[in-house]
Amino acid sequence: MIDRSDTTLDTAKAHQPLHDKLPAVLLHGMFIIMLGLVAVALPFVILLYGARPPSGGLIWDFSMGLGFGALALAALQFAMTGRLRWITHPFGADIVYLFHRYLSWGAVVLMLGHFGLLYLFHQPALGVLNPLEARWELTAGRVALVCFVALIVSSEFRKRLSLRHEWWRSLHLGLALLGMSAAIAHILGVGNLTDTPAKRVLWLGVTLGFMAVVFYTHVLRPWQQARRPWRVVANTAERGGVHTLELTPEGPGLQRWKPGQFAWLKIDRSPYSLIEHPFTISNAPEKGPNVAFSIKPLGDHTQQLIKTPIGAKAYVDGPYGAFSIDRMADAQGFIMIAGGVGITPILSNLHALQARNDQRPILLFFGNPSWEEASFREELEQMRRKLDLTLIHVIENPPEGWTSETGKIDRNVLLRHLAADTRQWPHLICGPAPMLNALRADLKDIGVSARHIEYEIFELV
Ligand SMILES: Cc1cc2nc3c(=O)[nH]c(=O)nc-3n(C[C@H](O)[C@H](O)[C@H](O)COP(=O)(O)OP(=O)(O)OC[C@H]3O[C@@H](n4cnc5c(N)ncnc54)[C@H](O)[C@@H]3O)c2cc1C
Repeated sequence: MIDRSDTTLDTAKAHQPLHDKLPAVLLHGMFIIMLGLVAVALPFVILLYGARPPSGGLIWDFSMGLGFGALALAALQFAMTGRLRWITHPFGADIVYLFHRYLSWGAVVLMLGHFGLLYLFHQPALGVLNPLEARWELTAGRVALVCFVALIVSSEFRKRLSLRHEWWRSLHLGLALLGMSAAIAHILGVGNLTDTPAKRVLWLGVTLGFMAVVFYTHVLRPWQQARRPWRVVANTAERGGVHTLELTPEGPGLQRWKPGQFAWLKIDRSPYSLIEHPFTISNAPEKGPNVAFSIKPLGDHTQQLIKTPIGAKAYVDGPYGAFSIDRMADAQGFIMIAGGVGITPILSNLHALQARNDQRPILLFFGNPSWEEASFREELEQMRRKLDLTLIHVIENPPEGWTSETGKIDRNVLLRHLAADTRQWPHLICGPAPMLNALRADLKDIGVSARHIEYEIFELV
């Protein structure tokens, strides 16, 4: 077990939050949504400003509108996936990725609508399909359409296509860059509704904006990381096959780190590598500047990571995420529910509560296949002495003589332990996707409203 009790370091700056009070977070979130809406509406405002081009008929004009809307939405996706902390802060990175998924669908539907209407009602304007004979700007539009459709298909069916995450990520970036460049070339080349300098400036702005985000994400940020490496100082085997890697910063360490957050981790790779994986920081900011990642070997990469030798060089991109007690300052108590390695963000939040000597009541349901595999159970037991923590282990295959809960955490288990007056407390859940879905339904069923349920998804795509 790693000694996480060292609080000698002054980490006050490290856990200064961006802002976590609910009204400020809500305002920030609404501002970003407004900005997104303005970004999508801006092309239309500029296009309709000044001398209007002659109408090509209702269907033609509508199809052009769909095309411009699609491109504005597609450009927005670069900002959403650039891990810009100012954008992810109010929602959490996982929710932003979820928005990205649905908005990308929206962009592709608009693009297909744009092409489909022209194909059905204005076919002569499309000319021939053969790229050797077709006008280059029309071919550019088709290349963009193919790239964006391929982006959606390869993302939605990644697992069925047996596409490794690393390959998928490179493909995703390549298709997005090619698709976006082709779409901008198409718009400028066709020249329809982009005839005045103001309108060309708009598309120049869109182009520069998306290139700036790509440059920041893939060049500038890794360059900054290269100047702030980390070093692995401990690799500790825990129960359930989990290994905790402890890293110490060789630079300034994490800034604005809150309990329950996660970071993208690269070990023994270039900071420019696309191979990086997200892991919760399982210790608390108060116990920094060292960070701990508790990793369950589930696939090729994690199998390698748990064998990391002491002294290995690492890069940490973070912190991200909103699964934090810092967002719940007014809570009277906490209900926490973890399945397997889903205990990591909960552990981090518990460490923070302990470091702050916070005596608000906590009920923790912790589900595991077996008692032997219950990671950190000794550490949790120790925490019980310092926190007002009630620990309910739920074991699927319990050992002989087991008297606590058995099976999976479900409605009945919850009802046996939750007092009626805890429904307004925050319920923090982290575990496998089927468990999350089932528990969210169970909690709603027993009267917990969605705004009192916080969950962390260990799968972004
Ligand atoms: C916010 C967050 C916090 C997490 N915290 C922890 C933690 O504390 N401990 C822990 O053990 N695991 C955690 N995970 C899960 C961990 O990231 C995956 O288990 C790991 O990336 C799997 O990689 P693999 O190649 O070994 O397994 P694979 O079998 O190749 O992948 C399993 C699944 O993990 C996801 N995944 C794989 N590679 C990546 C990647 N580069 N980026 C994003 N997702 C990927 C994919 O959905 C994939 O289907 C967390 C995930 C997220 C999103």
